[in-house]
Amino acid sequence: MGIIVQKFGGSSVATLEKLEKVSEHIIEEINKKNQVVVVVSAQGKTTDRLIAEEKEVTKKVYPREHDVLVSVGEQITIAKLAMLLKSKNYNAVSLCGWQIPILTDSNYTNSRIRYIHNETINEYLRTGNIVIVAGFQGIDENGNITTFGRGGSDTTAVALAASLDAERCDIFTDVDGVYSADPRIVDTVKKIKTISYEEMLELSSMGAKVLHNRCVEIGKKYNIPIYVKSTFERKSLGTLVTNKESFLEDLTINGVTKDDYISRITIVGLENKIGKTYQLFKLLSENSINVDIIVQSFGEHITKDIAFTVKMNDLARTLEILEENKEKLSAKEILHSENLSKVSIIGVGIANKPGVAASMFEALYENNINMHMVTTSEIKISVLVDVNDSDLAVKAIHQKFFETENY
Ligand code: ASP
Ligand code: MG
Repeated sequence: MGIIVQKFGGSSVATLEKLEKVSEHIIEEINKKNQVVVVVSAQGKTTDRLIAEEKEVTKKVYPREHDVLVSVGEQITIAKLAMLLKSKNYNAVSLCGWQIPILTDSNYTNSRIRYIHNETINEYLRTGNIVIVAGFQGIDENGNITTFGRGGSDTTAVALAASLDAERCDIFTDVDGVYSADPRIVDTVKKIKTISYEEMLELSSMGAKVLHNRCVEIGKKYNIPIYVKSTFERKSLGTLVTNKESFLEDLTINGVTKDDYISRITIVGLENKIGKTYQLFKLLSENSINVDIIVQSFGEHITKDIAFTVKMNDLARTLEILEENKEKLSAKEILHSENLSKVSIIGVGIANKPGVAASMFEALYENNINMHMVTTSEIKISVLVDVNDSDLAVKAIHQKFFETENY
């Protein structure tokens, strides 16, 4: 008998019929003599609707009031689910973030959890209740309601699992796990049975939007097994996200992803002096610009060239900052190209298996796809290609690793 945290996303709680399905999953754990804490999202598209209504009032964003408004959706779901369980003669209690409380910083719309007081929940569990918690919301030290950013209910769930020392956290959704590629691009995708936190972080930040990134970070930090599974396909085991140590001898490649909104900036003729590269990236970091792939020429001459990528929506601002500081940086020319895509393969096997990069490049070569930049880490290889080639690149690489060669 242990504590299990179950989280149900918006599509899983969208209608009363679906809430019935949700209650079956909860009752199943209760019958196994587990204590259950449930975290729910707002029903269906409720959060989108609330944001649309906000825009009807004013186009200006008032972050504090925004959070008061968008946190409402989850409160509706917890009440309904608690009522449903009570009507089936189970003891259940609904709790908003502030009632627990889940303490956060005051960064409205994207707040971070500082501390969870778990006494209230533990007391309700001890007295035989199913505890139903509103996802995505907390309270700051001044009593203001805060929210965690879109998709943030996952983070509530895993943070609660960590705080309550739960056995595991089940994230129920409308897909039955994490896949080796986006099924809209590749029709032969494979479901991943187990994946490490590190790989999952790479997959989610590369655009596979199954889990809120921050929940994976918390899972990793506190070693909470996270299961991603389907609310509706009861037989499916889903995907387990767990620690890397369980995979040390495993040489697999887990997924192929792409990010289509990448641009590249090239600084030509940067003075080849110690500290110039630092000066450039310090400038960007002071302006909160996230730089991804960086390539620097050897610098055996008086000047050197540096190319790096930024997200498309940071491009205009980055160029502006660079132009303003062109002289200070003693750069000759600032060039840029848009419409690039970063295609990556992810797997703990990459570091220890020779030939992974060669196979990836071969897949691109066979399909006549030009690579503009390459970057590698222990668990990832990314290449920059033209955005028009990105779907084909994902398909070709997926085929190479998951269908042709035996990875
Ligand atoms: N309801 C919020 C959203 O739609 C939080 C969540 O569902 O995780 O983003
Ligand atoms: Mg989600």
